[in-house]
Amino acid sequence: MVLRSLCAALVLFAVSAAPAAADFTPGADGAGDPFYPNAGNGGYDVRHYSLKLDYEPQNEQLAGDVSISARATQDLSSFNLDLRGYKVDSVTVNGSAASFTRKGQELTITPSAGLRRNRDFSVRVIYDGHANYVLDPDKSKDGWIPTDDGAFVVNEPQGSPTWFPSNDTPKDFATFDFAITVPEGKTAMANGRLVSTTDNGDTTTWRWREDSPMVPYLTTATNGVFELRIGTVNGLPEYNAVDPQTRPFGQKEPNPQLAWDRLNATQGPALDLFSQLYGPYPYDSVGAIVDWADNVFYSLESQTKPNYWHVASVATIVHEIAHQWFGDAIVLERWPDMWLNEGFATWSEWIWFEKTDPTGPTAQDQFDALYATPEDSSAGQDLWFPAPNGLADASELFHTPVYDRGAMTLQALREKVGNDVFFRIIRAWYAENKFSNVTTQDFIALAERVSGQELDQFFQVWLFEEGRPEPNSW
Ligand SMILES: [Zn+2]
Repeated sequence: MVLRSLCAALVLFAVSAAPAAADFTPGADGAGDPFYPNAGNGGYDVRHYSLKLDYEPQNEQLAGDVSISARATQDLSSFNLDLRGYKVDSVTVNGSAASFTRKGQELTITPSAGLRRNRDFSVRVIYDGHANYVLDPDKSKDGWIPTDDGAFVVNEPQGSPTWFPSNDTPKDFATFDFAITVPEGKTAMANGRLVSTTDNGDTTTWRWREDSPMVPYLTTATNGVFELRIGTVNGLPEYNAVDPQTRPFGQKEPNPQLAWDRLNATQGPALDLFSQLYGPYPYDSVGAIVDWADNVFYSLESQTKPNYWHVASVATIVHEIAHQWFGDAIVLERWPDMWLNEGFATWSEWIWFEKTDPTGPTAQDQFDALYATPEDSSAGQDLWFPAPNGLADASELFHTPVYDRGAMTLQALREKVGNDVFFRIIRAWYAENKFSNVTTQDFIALAERVSGQELDQFFQVWLFEEGRPEPNSW
């Protein structure tokens, strides 16, 4: 330690003694994720995004004017943003025209002068064109997904560049403001607090602001015909939007009232329960967007406002609220560690039913029912393969083991270390890592530190070995 800091001091001295011309080099075109190597970029950190979006749903045309404040982390001759599709009309850096090229999702920007390390800079991109979602390796739609009356906007893991130029990596937290213009009579939702609405005659501009750190995949701009109710829950402003056409999947008749009933019965109590169990809710607003997006087939924990593609079950609402702690405030550093999001959110469903339904299953009952699944059944093949932290590629990110066996890992840990120690682990995990990135190894190290137990074998069996763990093997 001492040696290392001595070295750093010597290097600093050498640099300041010889202030040679900066060696400007291009920023990396990817952030190095094993599953999405081209996502994100190198050489800078975004501080703030300011998104102005104008959407015409009748022809699915999106016009964007996006300003980004960032800080260079190297001397940059050029840098990249991630953007898919669209015609880019202009790019400026620090107010001066910049040249740019495009290849795949890479928008490479060369400013008129190099950007110095540790200096702030601004970039503005103006673009327009047809809004297109991206199909993920598991064939799910991701990004700006047009609906019959607007768009359902969800970005996990790679949808953000379908609607705004971004540093699309879970490693770059920033604050955001949104000004989204939609036809009169439609509502545009986004993360954080509603700042204002402006009536422009034929259109309305909705301004939202999220002051808490947020990574690009957790943004949203879902829009369409909604009933928006603004209230207060647990002392925070609450923004709930329900599409009058929404319904449970498979039902012909719209049933928005069911969505309201479930939100009203679940959202406040779930915030209360998880605040007690895990630590204070991380954000300064709360909400939900219940759309009727019948071609999407998944809901997502967008920050402060989960997106539900139809009338969600109570379990799903609880799941997405739990993600506000685990997934949104604590963010995985690499996509292969997805169980850190989904295992925690699924286990949170189990503890919700244990704590709120005296006649329902305990978390251990849920564990026992799953553990009884034979390996050689089709349900067992689905549950026990691959190992939750042994995914082969991005097509397996949302497979059953990530969710159910991830949750079983936490319940097995609870049984192993005892209830009190387990909750000390979970609370420390949240308190120490809020608004930062984590890995599986971070969790193992923290669990060992807080419990005082050596847990290598435990986590090896539960996270890294495929197949049903043998009884008494952990
Ligand atoms: Zn989830």
